[in-house]
Amino acid sequence: MRAFGAVSGIGEFAKGMGFTLKTMFTKPTTIQYPEQKRQVYPRFRGRHVLERYDNGLERCIGCELCAGACPANCILVEGAENDPDNPTSPGERYAKRYEINMSRCIFCGLCEEACPTGAIVLRHDFELADYDIPSQIYTKEQLLVPAAAPVSARQQVTSVGA
Ligand code: SF4
Ligand code: SF4
Repeated sequence: MRAFGAVSGIGEFAKGMGFTLKTMFTKPTTIQYPEQKRQVYPRFRGRHVLERYDNGLERCIGCELCAGACPANCILVEGAENDPDNPTSPGERYAKRYEINMSRCIFCGLCEEACPTGAIVLRHDFELADYDIPSQIYTKEQLLVPAAAPVSARQQVTSVGA
């Protein structure tokens, strides 16, 4: 009985060593973050941005549908009438104030789904950690893409909370 146990132990040992040797020659799954960054999936939902039209006008028309759709109640929109001589958006109204409390956001994407103009979009940036709650409240100025930014630059917004 004791001899059988010893043979069984050697078998298990060989099996474990075989697994160790096999993994020694396979490509590691870890990466050297933050120097190396993992490519996220195309449908990944990260940091929000407020988009513009190609002519520079803001897409947001201050309709508040995104705020109504948000299950975490973390969007605040205050709409205002556009100045006909110098409109901010193509509609009658625009978002005078737009804020997202990112500390409450669950990145469900329902705000993006609800938006009729494609203004609020979740991009791929995921480095959103900060040290206090006030820093997690992103203002319209932080969310709005720069007017002159080319479309390719808007795909990856890397400056977070700046
Ligand atoms: S992703 Fe979801 S939780 Fe976050 S702001 Fe949009 S609707 Fe709200
Ligand atoms: S982001 Fe879209 S849904 Fe939200 S207020 Fe602006 S236009 Fe309306």
